[in-house]
Amino acid sequence: AESRAINFGAGPCALPHSVLEEASKSLLNFNGTGIGIAEISHRSKEFGQVISEFESLIREQLQVPSTHVVLFSQGGGTGQFSSIVLNLLARHRLLYPSLSPEERYLDYVVTGSWSKSAADEAKRLGGGNVKVVVDSRESSKDGKSFDNIPTHDKYEFSKNPAVVYYCENETVQGVQFDVDPSSSTSFPYHLLPKDDPDLTSPLIPLVADYSSSFMSRPIPRLADHAVIFAGAQKNIGPAGLTVMIVRKDCIVDVDAAAKLGAAPVPKILSYKTLYDGKNVPNTPATISLYISKLVLQDMKEKGGLQYFGELSKIKAKKVYDALKRGEDKGGVFEGKIKEGNGRSLMNVVFGINGEGAEARFLEGAERRGLKGLKGHRSVGGIRVSLYNALSEKDADTLVQYMDEFVEAEQ
Ligand code: PMP
Repeated sequence: AESRAINFGAGPCALPHSVLEEASKSLLNFNGTGIGIAEISHRSKEFGQVISEFESLIREQLQVPSTHVVLFSQGGGTGQFSSIVLNLLARHRLLYPSLSPEERYLDYVVTGSWSKSAADEAKRLGGGNVKVVVDSRESSKDGKSFDNIPTHDKYEFSKNPAVVYYCENETVQGVQFDVDPSSSTSFPYHLLPKDDPDLTSPLIPLVADYSSSFMSRPIPRLADHAVIFAGAQKNIGPAGLTVMIVRKDCIVDVDAAAKLGAAPVPKILSYKTLYDGKNVPNTPATISLYISKLVLQDMKEKGGLQYFGELSKIKAKKVYDALKRGEDKGGVFEGKIKEGNGRSLMNVVFGINGEGAEARFLEGAERRGLKGLKGHRSVGGIRVSLYNALSEKDADTLVQYMDEFVEAEQ
């Protein structure tokens, strides 16, 4: 254990130590079967148990209502960028068969690189009119950065759209929606019919990318979402597994929609295939599922989402406070997202001023066993990811280093 670094990587990222110990035993012999977890059949009784427990843990902790199902796939968040468009355009076709593609709107709220990628994929796939209902770069300080969550008056939704899409936490820029319903940036609260009379359909196709905030705190208005998706590789497990929480009206017969002119949907991207196949229509990511299940069990034992939600606030506050001290002392640090603009609890992103200072910061961190701090290549700087497996003590260790660094740079 002593030789392990503190991994602040954005994903894949740190996982709980006890889970890794148990998983390493299971690599040789899973659950007394004499077969390792990487080798056992996904259709075995023992593995079936893993899947059903994993599902129950998600349902229980997030309080998923009976209107929604939990599905898994292997395509990552990126796979969902495509799946969402195809499945929800098929749904729209079945609801409104005679509209032309120009009359089918897919509304995207763009607040960072990931929601932009999702909107770009929707444009690439065609079949509808992709409308960027808000682009946060327009309300940014410099006119070109994703550095804020626009206030509600900025969103312009279409009437009966096929998709209303947002990314709850933008991992690259470190901007996240607020969960406080009284806040002007608490997006899902804003999206209910009473808030927007133009959204007349009783079942809004509200889609949320929760890749980097899934299971870090409760999901507000979960029941009002059509699809919530997340890659496992941040808070809950190794890469290779994607979790979707899908409202049942979004599990549609894509072949029937294709007969009416919708795009054919590759079988493995269709929610109906996953649903009908009880999440094993083909071979799932067995190790990822298994380890993710262990992580969720561990979370439950530690106090569940309530506990981790509070812990996230504490860790983020400590790091943002250290960042502020560095800003105040000679501008050594420079936070990219200002307080009140949707600063993420999961990814703290900042720059370091001064010739060669960023490299010095990273080198010093490396020497102390603090890893994964380099910002995303598209924005540079430093990114501190504070997913569930990072303890308050881990955050303290980083904060101490940040303070020492600021002193040394004076
Ligand atoms: N959305 C968000 C918010 C992400 O952080 C990521 C990956 N880091 C993705 C989507 C893409 O996910 P994947 O790599 O699983 O395709």
